[in-house]
Amino acid sequence: MNDTRHPAIDIALLGEDGTAPASAPTSVGADGSTVAAAAADARTNIFDFDRARLERFFEEELGEKKFRAHQVMKWIHHRYATEFADMTDLGKALRAKLEERAVVRAPQVVFDKASADGTHKWLLGMDAKNAIETVYIPDKGRGTLCVSSQVGCALNCGFCSTATQGFNRNLSTAEIIGQVWVAARHLGNVPHQQRRLTNVVMMGMGEPLANFDNVVRAMSIMRDDLGYGLANKRVTLSTAGMVPMIDRLAVESDVSLAVSLHAPFDELRTKLMPINKKYPLAELLDACVRYALRKKGESVTFEYTLMQGVNDQPEHARALIGLLRDFDRRVQMKGAAKINLIPFNPFPGAGFQRPDDVAIRTFQKLLNNAGMIAPVRRTRGDDIDAACGQLKGQVMDRTRRSAEHRKRLRAAGVVDVA
Ligand code: SAH
Repeated sequence: MNDTRHPAIDIALLGEDGTAPASAPTSVGADGSTVAAAAADARTNIFDFDRARLERFFEEELGEKKFRAHQVMKWIHHRYATEFADMTDLGKALRAKLEERAVVRAPQVVFDKASADGTHKWLLGMDAKNAIETVYIPDKGRGTLCVSSQVGCALNCGFCSTATQGFNRNLSTAEIIGQVWVAARHLGNVPHQQRRLTNVVMMGMGEPLANFDNVVRAMSIMRDDLGYGLANKRVTLSTAGMVPMIDRLAVESDVSLAVSLHAPFDELRTKLMPINKKYPLAELLDACVRYALRKKGESVTFEYTLMQGVNDQPEHARALIGLLRDFDRRVQMKGAAKINLIPFNPFPGAGFQRPDDVAIRTFQKLLNNAGMIAPVRRTRGDDIDAACGQLKGQVMDRTRRSAEHRKRLRAAGVVDVA
């Protein structure tokens, strides 16, 4: 494992016990800039703009032609430039005007870690008190980046480590696409030429549909040729099941949809995922059917985290098969419902266990026997806590959840109370 720290920021951002200090001192970035200075800087951050908005900014605010916006996008997302002075195909006057009105401000790397299996994790400072995690997972012929959408998460799923940290705020468009920029720059990614980054999954910290506008705008930059040039299908949004927003997504964006199912029965699902109370299974599956019908010929992926003795029994497999078959029938396409099995990834005080390999294979076999392909997602990067559900970051919690979780851990005698 390789842990690269950037001490100046690290010390400022993280308190001794791993929590941010009550009044965080000004943290100094690797480039010498300060978070406090960034907060005080009223200039527009170009990272907040997708193509349409940047064009508008150039035409309406700067009185410039659209194609200038395109040049700037390429400088930023293809060549990783952050100084207008370096954008040499823009005239001097325009560069000066941009300098006055705008900045190109990426998230600051607090530290990054490389796993023995090639997985790479970044802790990125979002402001003086909050940080989020981003994970890169290389595999045969593909490189997937797992991107966060919020600081913490408000949904409180019982098996997810992010939930134990509570919630602070939504990430801006700049803070979402900035994660892609940091990783792509580190990897030496060149869109259309040297592709290190082939897929993005919105499966990091947070519920992406609870931050709809910023997530949709950032996903549009991921798919834009002037951005990261990813095919629509290679950008996946994963949701715990915010039904009305699934319908909005179907209309306003064009990406792959993944839904965290985790249980085929309402009672159990509500216990694991409180959001099920508001949007129970029948409503959730209706919305997924509408999504698939609107995106003709596209499948929906259902994620199923296997927890020992909780949702890994034959009765669960049988009910799950029923739900998936029903889905296929309603969208009139065999295999329209894909299922992804995720063995539970433990974290301190989780209260759930991963089933043993035999139990996982048995569950998978039942699905296979019903004619379903049910890949078991390989655990990656668990030596650096980068696996599904293990992302934590640094959250100045606005809910009581993180304090409650720490109290429970102490009561249970768990020493690793971070
Ligand atoms: N909020 C979104 C995005 C999170 S994606 C969603 O719920 O879909 C992360 C995926 O990992 C989700 O399917 C989530 O349910 C799952 N997950 C969370 N905690 C996990 C854990 N401890 N082990 C395995 N999978 C987990």
